[in-house]
Amino acid sequence: MNDTIDRLSAWLRTESPTHAPAGVNRMMDLVAGEAGEAGIAVERIEGRPGLGDVVILRAGPERDEPATLVMSHLDTVHPLGTCEHDLRVRLEGDRLYGPGAYDMKGGAWLALQAFKDVARAGSAKRPLVFLFTPDEEIGSPMTRPMIEDLGGKAAFVLVTEPARDGGRIVTSRKGVGRFDVQVEGRPAHSGSRHQDGRSAIREAARQILRIENMTDYPRGVTTTVGMVTGGTAANVVPQHCRFSVDLRVTSASDGEAYAAAILGLTPHDPDVKVTIAGGMNRPPYEKTEAVARVFEHARGLAAEIGFDLEEVPMTGGGSDGNFTAALGVPTLDGLGIDGDGAHTLSEYGLVSSIEPRRKLMRRLLETL
Ligand SMILES: [Zn+2]
Repeated sequence: MNDTIDRLSAWLRTESPTHAPAGVNRMMDLVAGEAGEAGIAVERIEGRPGLGDVVILRAGPERDEPATLVMSHLDTVHPLGTCEHDLRVRLEGDRLYGPGAYDMKGGAWLALQAFKDVARAGSAKRPLVFLFTPDEEIGSPMTRPMIEDLGGKAAFVLVTEPARDGGRIVTSRKGVGRFDVQVEGRPAHSGSRHQDGRSAIREAARQILRIENMTDYPRGVTTTVGMVTGGTAANVVPQHCRFSVDLRVTSASDGEAYAAAILGLTPHDPDVKVTIAGGMNRPPYEKTEAVARVFEHARGLAAEIGFDLEEVPMTGGGSDGNFTAALGVPTLDGLGIDGDGAHTLSEYGLVSSIEPRRKLMRRLLETL
């Protein structure tokens, strides 16, 4: 267990925020080196400028049949230097703290060990592919086509995002839409020419209420205006205002309907221009019958190992699993480490969850 803690701690100290490609690539080096030593075939694809590389591992029988695809992202949301002061890598009881301990280096690490276990034992049921990505935390702009290509050809997809609420896994996720709204009014001196002005902020305020009022909890739909900028000075009727919209939906049809409603908003004031860009980014990951069957299978394996595997109700956060599930490929997510505090300075993984979940990943690769 000390060896596990030391090796995973070294990963946590290798800081890898999405926009620090050198750090992300050091993580890719660690993965590629470890896999290479275990005799696993390593493919490395150079990232586009500003982003880290992609590493793809292959193992199992060399037969022309659909693979099981494992997916982990190695980027984190924590800026460089976080592990020096704000979130030191340290063990407190069962909690291993550090940037990405929970989301998701803990999960990537345990899945890599399972992948090596299966490769070494020669016990894979079908070809295995492991995709390590550098850009999940910004919506996977570079790797989405790779995810959809490898995922579309796969029989099953396993995602190592963190477990929830005491080790539960994820079998459905909301879809995510992103929009950028620009409002252009007419500037005027707020004292002498007030009546000539057309306030972009006033118009934006009305649009923001319209959009926020689309939230429908019973339906599982939420809209959030998370950022607003605008105006130039306290004594000027503002010409510009800009805000962002985050949309979450539970079904593809709601995704289309709400995206159309947001994109179709028109100004209250005919003298003000409202320009809306954006759309659905991640489609919803719905729990189909095929997903339910894979979950039941995983539950049986967990019982053999000695723990009870449960699932969470549809979660609001998107992941790369949304892309493969939307293609109709049975996808299980949340197979990573248990813990808490994703994206915060109190992020930790539970060391005691590593072994059982490594075994579960191994058995999935041997039986699916
Ligand atoms: Zn994550």
